[in-house]
Amino acid sequence: MERGWPDVNHRDARKVNNCMDSIQFGLFPGVCSLCGDLCRPVLDLCDACRADLPFQSNACRCCGISLPMSEVCGHCLGETHAYRHVVGLFDYRPPVDTLILGLKYRGKLSYARLLGRLLAEKLLQREEDLPEVIIPVPLHSRRLQERGYNQSLEIARPLAHKLRLPIDFRACQRHRMTAAQSTLTASERQQNVRGVFSVKPGFKKKHIAIVDDVMTTGYTVAALAQQLRNCGVSNIEVWICARAALTNT
Ligand SMILES: [Zn+2]
Ligand SMILES: [Zn+2]
Repeated sequence: MERGWPDVNHRDARKVNNCMDSIQFGLFPGVCSLCGDLCRPVLDLCDACRADLPFQSNACRCCGISLPMSEVCGHCLGETHAYRHVVGLFDYRPPVDTLILGLKYRGKLSYARLLGRLLAEKLLQREEDLPEVIIPVPLHSRRLQERGYNQSLEIARPLAHKLRLPIDFRACQRHRMTAAQSTLTASERQQNVRGVFSVKPGFKKKHIAIVDDVMTTGYTVAALAQQLRNCGVSNIEVWICARAALTNT
């Protein structure tokens, strides 16, 4: 009688997976991005630090600001946005600022992998249709040259890989150098990004997701979303790693 592979039930399969994880952990452990302890290499985040992260639990569907209970905040009840809704991963507070600022200003590209993968985990829990394409918020070419990379594109890469979606980082351009939004008041921020984005001619998608690292007033993504709507994109989502509340109005 021919002897094939023995039957493997789910419990055995889990044991094999755990065993493989342990071997991988033993041979190639990761280092936690926040505390520096050894951890499983997939995320570079230990379980204790993960448990302390300020994941958003309930937030306004329209603007992503954290709310105690309801689905839409008071501000969005009386307002329409160029984007349909916002999905945020974290509230912007310690230790998330370490990850965002490290990625943006200290060249810590591994933080983008962590943020992108965690954001993908959240998005995979939804039942909604995924967009046709992911569009990272573009940097001005001079800022891109100074920094060497676009942090939103770096977050979008692992995200797109996990969700099996294409990224289009050439669809939109930022054609004016602007002051950093974080240095301005709310009204200055709106003025600062007015008319700074353009969409390449012939862009034909209907459902897209804009990806950004942090959202505070939302003026940057709103300005980009408005340009995309003007080009016929009817369903625009905004996916962000961290949602901040504006304090310097
Ligand atoms: Zn840790
Ligand atoms: Zn809202």
